[in-house]
This record gives sequence, structure tokens and C-alpha cells, in this order.
Amino acid sequence: MYIDTHAHIQDDMLKDRIDKVLFDAKTNNVKKIVCASYDIKSSCDAVNISQKYENVYAIVGVHPENCEEYNENLEKELANLCKDKKVVAIGEIGLDYHYTKENKVIQKEVFISQILLANKLKLPIVIHTRDAIGDTMEIVRKYANCLKNGVVFHCFNASEEILNEIINMGFYVSYGGVITFNNAKNLINIVEKTPLDKILTETDCPYLSPVPFRGQINEPKNINLIIKKISEIKNIDLNELEKIIENNTKKIFKI
Ligand SMILES: [Zn+2]
Repeated sequence: MYIDTHAHIQDDMLKDRIDKVLFDAKTNNVKKIVCASYDIKSSCDAVNISQKYENVYAIVGVHPENCEEYNENLEKELANLCKDKKVVAIGEIGLDYHYTKENKVIQKEVFISQILLANKLKLPIVIHTRDAIGDTMEIVRKYANCLKNGVVFHCFNASEEILNEIINMGFYVSYGGVITFNNAKNLINIVEKTPLDKILTETDCPYLSPVPFRGQINEPKNINLIIKKISEIKNIDLNELEKIIENNTKKIFKI
């Protein structure tokens, strides 16, 4: 059985045919799907979907690209959503300097606010970081005391040094379709170095379809290709790896 710990099934590309998406996931042995959010609307949608489907859970939060919408009222709404038992984490939150660095200050403020919120609500966080690993780690180090409920670095792709630091802090890293890409040589080396008990798996659908579906709309049913790739890199039996990943997911998200 597979677990997709980071899927945007509330996205416009998937939500209109969500029954079919979830049916196909089920028939492809996907046991649990965690629906990750990026703004307040997607957070509400994720919770609604998780209420409707037993095997779907929700992560709520504001992505750095949407940091400008964050305010006190929105934070209250997020806290309210977290009262639902199907909400398992705050995310995806973090820093993204890929498209703009101009709002760095706001991005950091919103990231920190959501770290503090997660700590107050005793929830783990799911971090998105792109072209911003230095500043991200600075905040993670500074607020380590507020991260005792756990951290997942989603779609992880950084140096071995950063990997080691994250692992030493007791945090998890999640791998997706990128590890199947032809140019993923460095990343494959990082997967190889990652302890098995710190690995999670995700599709990040509808984005980042694994090979051979690269460029197409991604779905949770494709998670098997990612787990298979990890089993090859780590040279471990697929069934054994599935159980380890189920166990890791249980530890961090309590599901
Ligand atoms: Zn995502």
C-alpha cells in the first residue's frame, strides 16, 4: 500500500473529476492521501474534501507565493480549520525566492507566524523552500524550540550538508517525481544518503509527474513510480519500503 503525503487534489486541474482521481488512486493501491494547501481557499477545500473521503487528510496553510494575503483574520480562520480532526499539519509554508525576492521580509514574517501557529496547535509543519534554503534554515534553527511537533521538507532537494542537519534535528524529507527525472543525479545521491526512517513520499500533483508521465497532469495514482524509484536507489525490497513509509507517515502525521 502506498501513501501520498502531499497532493493538491483540490486544484482546478483535478477537483472536477475528484471521484475518478480517488477511485484510480484506490485501485492503484494508494491507501492514504494528504491534501496540501497553498492559500485560505485551498485550505478550506482540503478540509471539505477530507471530511467527504475517509482516506483523505488535510494540511492547511499559506504558501510563500501567497504571503500577501496573510493577516490576523486569516490566521484565525486557519486555527479554526485545524479544529477538524482530519487536519494533520500546517503547510505548505516557507520561502520561495524563485519568482520574486522583493517580498522577502513578508515571506519570512508569514513563515514565522505559521510556525508559531503550528506550535500553539501542536501540529507539525510542511516546508516549501525554493532558491531560499539558506534563509529557510536560518529560521528553522532559530525557531527549533517551536518545531517539536515535527517538520517535513516537501519535495526535498538540497545539499548533503543540509540533509544531515535536517536529519539530526529529527525532521523528515519527502521525495516526489523529480527523483525519476533524467537529470536528477545529485538528488539521487541525496536519496541514497537519507535514512529510511526519515523518508516520506509525495506526488505534489497536479505538478511534477514522474517519468514516463512527465509533462502530464499528475495524480496520486502515480505514487507507485516514486516508491519504486526509491526502492531501486536504496536497494530495498518494495514491500518492506512501503511498510517503512507507512510507519514514518504514522509517526509524523498520526495517521
Ligand atoms: Zn505542493
